[in-house]
Amino acid sequence: MSWTILHKNGLQLPQIGWWLDPSRPVDKAIVSHAHFDHLAASREVVCTPATARFMRHRLPRKRVEHRLPFGQTEPLTPDCSVTLLPAGHILGSALILLNHRELGSLLYTGDFKLRQGLVAETCATPRADTLVMETTFGRSHYCMPPSDQVRGQLQDFCRQTLAAGDTPVLMAYSLGKAQEVLASLAGLEAPIMVHPQIAEMNHLHEDLGVTLPPHRLFDDRELAGHVVLCAPAPKNSAFLKRIPRPRTAFVSGWALDRSTVFRQRCDAAFPLSDHADYPDLLCFVDLVKPKRVLTLHGFAADFARTLRERGYDALALSEPNQLDLGLQ
Ligand SMILES: [Zn+2]
Repeated sequence: MSWTILHKNGLQLPQIGWWLDPSRPVDKAIVSHAHFDHLAASREVVCTPATARFMRHRLPRKRVEHRLPFGQTEPLTPDCSVTLLPAGHILGSALILLNHRELGSLLYTGDFKLRQGLVAETCATPRADTLVMETTFGRSHYCMPPSDQVRGQLQDFCRQTLAAGDTPVLMAYSLGKAQEVLASLAGLEAPIMVHPQIAEMNHLHEDLGVTLPPHRLFDDRELAGHVVLCAPAPKNSAFLKRIPRPRTAFVSGWALDRSTVFRQRCDAAFPLSDHADYPDLLCFVDLVKPKRVLTLHGFAADFARTLRERGYDALALSEPNQLDLGLQ
């Protein structure tokens, strides 16, 4: 017997009656982290305490909430237990490890990153029989430069922009990436202002024990000399119009694609990612040592093929597989 995994609006595990990261409300859900594409108003939820805190803010409603700290194992059904382990993606993000008496172990990564960030916990690498993994950057050219180097480049961008009399505007998603960017600016001489949406997420991080560099709420009357941090926004957005002479920088792993500056209509892009890059995806699989791998998101079919070439039993869940049938 092996795990049956149905991929539609999240992952359904019919043998145990639970879902992983459903995007529509279900009865019983285990939630890996609090990004909106992993959230739904489900009736009963298992997640880490930090994810529960973010969820209460982002999706306030009544639900049965099981807050499971990292490393603690709890029974989910009479035959199956659950353990949440750090995924290194954003604060509180979890790998979900299920251990079933007959089906063996299943590890679901949610979104994850092996490289050590400044805010998220260090990613764990447990062994598992079946691995279901995200493969956002599952092609070989997605190889991130060292994070310290990118942080230095971000700070240089801010200094040079301010020296030219312009306003540096760093654009990063409000939960997770924005705090990583803010922490990356530690030691920068210039003061920092943040968009109200990011300020709310910063407060939650500080309540959860994270120390962030000094910053203040955006105020266009006192903007001169500040670095601004906001969520990605088009150049003609009402918020950017309040900033005189903005020079915008998009902070994302997609900065490795040359077209990113053009597509995002920004002035610069920096490849600081909260997802595993291609070498780390391969490294993660080698550490987990699974008997079977199922890939999700991004270049899922390409990465599954790469794994098959390396001798793994691997298939994509989120894309049609181009199976290697050979020449006839
Ligand atoms: Zn995410």
